[in-house]
Amino acid sequence: MNQRAGVIGHPISHSLSPKIFDFLSVTIGGVSLKYLAHDVSPSELRSYVLEALKDPQNIGFNVTVPHKESVLSFAHHLSDEVEKIGAANVLAFKDQEIFAFNTDVVGISESLLSATRGLPTQSVLVVGAGGAARAALYTCGINRFSSVKIINRSPSKARLLGTEFNKFFPATAFKAIENLAELDQNSFDLIVQATPLGMTGYRESTRGNAEAIYQAIFKHQARPGLAFDMIYRPQLTPFLNAAQQSGWKILGGLGMLVGQALATWEIWFEKIENKENVRQLLIQNLQKHLEATP
Ligand code: NAP
Repeated sequence: MNQRAGVIGHPISHSLSPKIFDFLSVTIGGVSLKYLAHDVSPSELRSYVLEALKDPQNIGFNVTVPHKESVLSFAHHLSDEVEKIGAANVLAFKDQEIFAFNTDVVGISESLLSATRGLPTQSVLVVGAGGAARAALYTCGINRFSSVKIINRSPSKARLLGTEFNKFFPATAFKAIENLAELDQNSFDLIVQATPLGMTGYRESTRGNAEAIYQAIFKHQARPGLAFDMIYRPQLTPFLNAAQQSGWKILGGLGMLVGQALATWEIWFEKIENKENVRQLLIQNLQKHLEATP
């Protein structure tokens, strides 16, 4: 049977997901999948997904901004990650029920764990307090990193996350940092950037601000570590540029994007054979695409 899936967001024209899943269908084979991007407004989200659930050809959706939190209100089953993070990026339809998953966590874990092999990861700073930052906090908690600080434009959200994640993962000490000046008193092995600040197309007026903030973050670090930016467009973001200038190792968001997509495929279909090979081919394919359309 032909199967259908897609990504729902608003707006959605920037999404690489159709390209990724077309590539996976051809490379992995064995399924006949039609994957499309759907621009769904917040007011029509619920009825759109519930209508799609009625058609047995539909196997589910990827979910992106701004719907990652809202889909929890009508999904029938939430994975542990989704419950703790409060956001889902995958819906799987089974027997007329909706199962919600968060494979961003898998993308972050795989990407980070391979990049940090042999490096210390005990002291972490997460920049941001949205859904992607929460997925990063979950990854730190599940991997029992010892200390995780959170800094955000709105400090109250960082404080709230600190309190929540201390309850979820008692082996890790989560704590909000109130402002950039407080960074002087901390040094980090790993800094994770989880805001759109510096992303191509995101409010060009904030670019100067982004550079100043990121330079301030790295200026006070006693020794270099690993800097991870979840943004993948551009490949060298203002955050990664500031990190590199301070001698840090850098990691962009493309590996995370690919990791979450492979994990989505395995939820909808079955385990991918030769997964590492498929991962490398997909990364190369997307890198070429991003170089051609920066
Ligand atoms: P979100 O839930 O909307 O959260 C956005 C966060 O960024 C909030 O903490 C917000 O602060 C902060 N922020 C927004 N604009 C800012 C600005 N001008 N200055 C300082 N802080 C700002 O978004 P999200 O879903 O977490 O996504 C965040 C980023 O992660 C996006 O760039 C997205 O592309 C990336 N991402 C990448 C992948 C991947 O696969 N590589 C997957 C998911 C997300 P306030 O709380 O003050 O509003």
